This record gives sequence, C-alpha cells and structure tokens, in this order.
Amino acid sequence: FVIPEFRSFCDDIDKIYHQCKNNQNGQTTQYIPQLANKNPKFWAVSMCTVDGQRYSVGDVKESFTIQSCSKPLTYAIACAENGPEKMHQYIGFEPSGRFFNELCLDYKNKPHNPMINSGAILTAALIKPTLSAADRFDYILEMYKRLAGSEYLGFNNSVFLSEKECADRNFALAYFMRENKCFPPGTKLQETLEFYFQLCSLEITAESGAVMAATLANGGINPLTGDPVLTCEAVRNTLTLMHSCGMYNYSGQFAFKVGLPAKSGVSGCILLVVPNTVGFCLWSPPLDANGNSVRGVEFCSELVNLFKFHHFDNL
Ligand code: GLN
Repeated sequence: FVIPEFRSFCDDIDKIYHQCKNNQNGQTTQYIPQLANKNPKFWAVSMCTVDGQRYSVGDVKESFTIQSCSKPLTYAIACAENGPEKMHQYIGFEPSGRFFNELCLDYKNKPHNPMINSGAILTAALIKPTLSAADRFDYILEMYKRLAGSEYLGFNNSVFLSEKECADRNFALAYFMRENKCFPPGTKLQETLEFYFQLCSLEITAESGAVMAATLANGGINPLTGDPVLTCEAVRNTLTLMHSCGMYNYSGQFAFKVGLPAKSGVSGCILLVVPNTVGFCLWSPPLDANGNSVRGVEFCSELVNLFKFHHFDNL
C-alpha cells in the first residue's frame, strides 16, 4: 500500500478534521442566494489513495456545486483533447495576481491562466467546439463521471439559473475577450458562457470529489476503475497550474506553506492532490477574504505539518 499504516493515518486525519471543525471564521459566498444560504457548519473531508484506499469524515454525502474546482478538470480534459500547444495559443501560464474574475488580460492579450474565470471560459470554448450544446454537455458529463468512477455527479439547475442571472461580470469578461480576439474562430459566445455556467453547476459530494482528485494524483488513471481517463501529460500540465494558480490570490502562499497542487471554488470546496499518493476533497462553505474555504485551508496546512507531503519536503 502507498500509505502503509492506513488506520493510524486516518486517525490523524480525524484529529485534523475535528480541530478545523472548531474554526468558525469566514462567510459563505454572497453572489448567489443558493450558495449564500448554505449551512456554514457543513464540513467534509474525503480521501482516496492511488491504490484505492478510502476514508471520509463529516458531511461527506452532502452534495454541493463544484464551481471553480471544475476549472482544472475541464482544463485537463481540454488538454488531453487538444494538446498543450493549441491550448496555450489561447491561454497563458502565469498567476494573474488579480481577482479571479477581474476584467484583465495578460500582456499578450490572453487570459493569464486556465484557473481564473477568463481562462476557464476560454477553456470551455476549446472543448469539442463542433458539437451541439447538448452533445457537449453529455460529453463533459461522461468525462467527469469517468473521473469520479461513476460516483455521485449531479447538475444543480437552480444554481445554473442564478449563475446565468448574476453573470454580468462573466459576460463582460467574455465580450472583453471577444473584443481582443481571444477566442478561436467560430466560437459562439452565449453558448460558451452557458457551458461554463453548467460546468460550475455540476454537483459532487466530498466522496466523489476525492475520487476525481485521486485520478489526478494517479496520473489520469482512475484508481478505482483503472480507466485511463486523462493522459499523463494533461495531468502534469494541470497539476503544475493548480500548484501556481489554484488558490486565487493565496496561490503563492499556499505553494510556500503547503506545497501541493490544489484548486478551490466559491462553494467552499478544495481539491487537493498529493501526486502518486492520494487525492482529497475538502468542503466547508465559509470562505476567507481570498475566497478559499477557511476550514479547507487550515486542513491543508495541518496536513503538511504532520506529514511530509510538501513538494520540497523530500530534500
Ligand atoms: N461560478 C463562479 C463564477 O463564475 C465560479 C467562481 C469560483 O468558484 N471562483 O463567478
């Protein structure tokens, strides 16, 4: 087993879970009521190792929308489909140092990276662009299901509808990008945005999210089903960008303190990957000023305090 003393590892995870549970800081995101009204007490930790050992604690059967945690997954799928050269004709590699939805492009007039809204909208445009909207949605659903090994994956229509309703900024971003000729020829703006909102409105549980993270930890092969969902190269690229850009404006500090690829979303979820070892999905709705789950971030730092998972711990 990749984690030999699994029982005692789980006991430690439990301890960290309960320590973070006491943290009452942060506030649920306010931009749409469906997310603002989530119970701030929800707190779930689930993990899946690359050899299929599982452990979960807390509200792990509760479903929540994946939000920005879809960004690395969609990027990985798009990378496997198009190859990195084509992807990065359109999207940059650098942290933006700005808010995730800020109206700005890099000095080459591209979105800074695929982990912020502009880059994720562009990534959505690069997924099976010749298919109809319905076929595209089916395709991505199928890919996400494979990432999760057919564990829970849903679609939250009320979140989707309010995303669409409260999307002035995302529309502004898309028009700004169209003005700057960011999109591949033939991109349908409205359809691309709706696809992006659909991706944010996919529902997972901490348990199914952990399997997705474990698939990334395992180089794209789902550890439970053996399904080669993504290419190694696509996963390598994705983990690299999660490492540098996955935690909003905390990404630099997170890389410094935790040293692991991760991605957070406004619903309070975090996908955390320990390459070749284990994938975690953490979920708790209250967010800090950077937009990251308060309990989730605390969990990550406690985890690397206890275990030598930081990328540079093995020096
Ligand atoms: N749906 C949100 C948006 O596009 C997702 C952002 C996020 O999770 N950071 O604004």
